[in-house]
Amino acid sequence: MKVTKFGGSSVSNAEQIKKVLDIVNSDEARKIVVVSAPGKRNKDDVKTTDLLIRLYEKVIERLDYTSKKEEIIQRYKDIINELNMSDTLLKTIDETLENYIATLRKKPSRLLDALLSCGEDFNAQIIAEYNNSQGIPTRYISPGEAGITVTDLPQNAQILNQSYEALYKLRSFEEKLIIPGFFGISRQNYVVTFPRGGSDITGAIVARGVRADLYENFTDVSGIFRANPSIVKNPEVINEITYREMRELSYAGFGVFHDEALQPLHKDRIPVVIKNTNRPNDIGTYIRHDREIDSNSVVSGISCDKDFTVLNIKKYLMNRQVGFTRKILAVLEDYNISFDHMPSGIDNISIIMRSKEIQNKEEQVLNDIRKNCDVDELSIEHDLAILMVVGEGMHRIVGTASTITHALAESNINLKMMNQGASEISMMFGIDVTDAEKAVNATYEYCYTKNCLNI
Ligand code: ASP
Repeated sequence: MKVTKFGGSSVSNAEQIKKVLDIVNSDEARKIVVVSAPGKRNKDDVKTTDLLIRLYEKVIERLDYTSKKEEIIQRYKDIINELNMSDTLLKTIDETLENYIATLRKKPSRLLDALLSCGEDFNAQIIAEYNNSQGIPTRYISPGEAGITVTDLPQNAQILNQSYEALYKLRSFEEKLIIPGFFGISRQNYVVTFPRGGSDITGAIVARGVRADLYENFTDVSGIFRANPSIVKNPEVINEITYREMRELSYAGFGVFHDEALQPLHKDRIPVVIKNTNRPNDIGTYIRHDREIDSNSVVSGISCDKDFTVLNIKKYLMNRQVGFTRKILAVLEDYNISFDHMPSGIDNISIIMRSKEIQNKEEQVLNDIRKNCDVDELSIEHDLAILMVVGEGMHRIVGTASTITHALAESNINLKMMNQGASEISMMFGIDVTDAEKAVNATYEYCYTKNCLNI
């Protein structure tokens, strides 16, 4: 059995929805389908989820929200009309929106989640009804009925383990099932959404719950590229990648698959394939527990993410002081700041974090470190980019670091920091943000075009 998820651009209009259903109906094993909200139909379009956020803002600001609501209804009306369906569902859509607004107005974060969930919920209902009308027994299942029970933190739901057992029962349905992605129901009976892009997470949870043989994730590209195609010209598509590699690459900016979606799959080793709705016969990229490694795939991919800030701390004889780092980390904890990397020397330490973590708190954090930690020197640097070179093959060969540093030196890129964990699955290089694109191109060329990493 397969669980098949379609992203926003795959279900953005009637034409796309027909393609989706052709894919679903062409394979008996595609029994359970998870759908996103209608995404952008063209470059300048707005995602339905974003329209719902606009509606929410109007309601909260106590302004007239009618035109925002109408815009949302119009998105579904277009789909329904183009599919030649009766528009009875439009009434339900209007009533559902009004009902959430009336009952949750005084609980803004609850209202936001409830409205956000509508994007996928309405789409799933339309898609199920349409497929049924085409003679294929199909049924809409809400997350509540499916048993997707989540924690109660708005816009940041986490799945509760009890869900997996409940979801297993979906196997017994005869019909094809269409489930809306992106949200679950809390024990307190609230609608709670996953973080943005969270339909991938729903798909992964359902795949684990029904013990699927494969989780298919359909999007608008034919797999995951080895590097960002807007930086590197015609990068290769990755054939196979491991969960660990995928996690590292998503962390550093590979947005094709949500990193939180890997967690449920990892445990039961359910493979994932990323495929293209517009070119369903392309092989796509498989994400698995293990993979074959050859000379062209020592490194799986290269990514570079911007907007990092680094705190540089110097303390003479730091290595001999028990508890010095703990005091610094305690300050970060006080300000609820999480950090990503911490390369260090005997008398210095750098703490790297996403800039948004320390935004608006910078002065207080620096003052507290000065006050509590008796440092010799403390400085803060913005505009750091992190280049990540990721590959399970790196621990098998000698010279990966030398190849990459050579590539960067050739392009005259100054390395501010380097870090490699014991697992040798990724190497991190801190560089100036202005060098980001150059660094990705130089590294790509050495790893793939010149094929310098031979096994
Ligand atoms: N519709 C939601 C979003 O735009 C979730 C998703 O599409 O995965 O973030």
